[in-house]
Amino acid sequence: MTIDNLKALIRDVPDFPKKGIMFKDITPLLYDSNGLKTAVNMLSDHYKGNHVSVVVATEARGFIIGPPIALNLNAGFVPVRKPGKLPYKTKSMTYKLEYGTDTVEIHEDAIKPGQEVLMVDDVLATGGTMAACCKLVESMGGCIIGCAFLLELTFLNGRKALKGHDVFSLIKF
Ligand code: AMP
Repeated sequence: MTIDNLKALIRDVPDFPKKGIMFKDITPLLYDSNGLKTAVNMLSDHYKGNHVSVVVATEARGFIIGPPIALNLNAGFVPVRKPGKLPYKTKSMTYKLEYGTDTVEIHEDAIKPGQEVLMVDDVLATGGTMAACCKLVESMGGCIIGCAFLLELTFLNGRKALKGHDVFSLIKF
């Protein structure tokens, strides 16, 4: 399977979740056994030469592709969640949205200083969420070896928000 085959498995849903947004729906790719395996393996293979201690991903769709990548890399998995969802003591990071702010949380003991961390999410849009997650991990002493995405909306310039980090995306729109 090629990148173009994977790209063909992404469905455009106009005006979701609100008017004016073209939502990139990854569920047809997840549904396709070959597509899912190829995408997860290609993303993991990019980091095969690195030692990855933990994969960090945010809810909700980061939780779908993060764990299989962690398995491939013999790494652990750390969830980042919306406020109030994690059961133990947390550290949080608040970041700006177009209108208002949002907050992400991680368990306070999830990252050990010096640990090699691979950050994963499904879509790189503006990069705001990933930038906040990176700050959170770095504030705990984590060493981010890269930020990996299934797909990237290049026209939104998300890489700018992730300056200084190694960014890799499989499918580009
Ligand atoms: P951002 O902080 O703008 O990079 O986007 C945060 C999250 O929103 C991404 O990880 C995606 O899960 C989701 N997202 C943003 N824009 C889209 C889109 N056009 N299609 C699908 N998911 C999106």
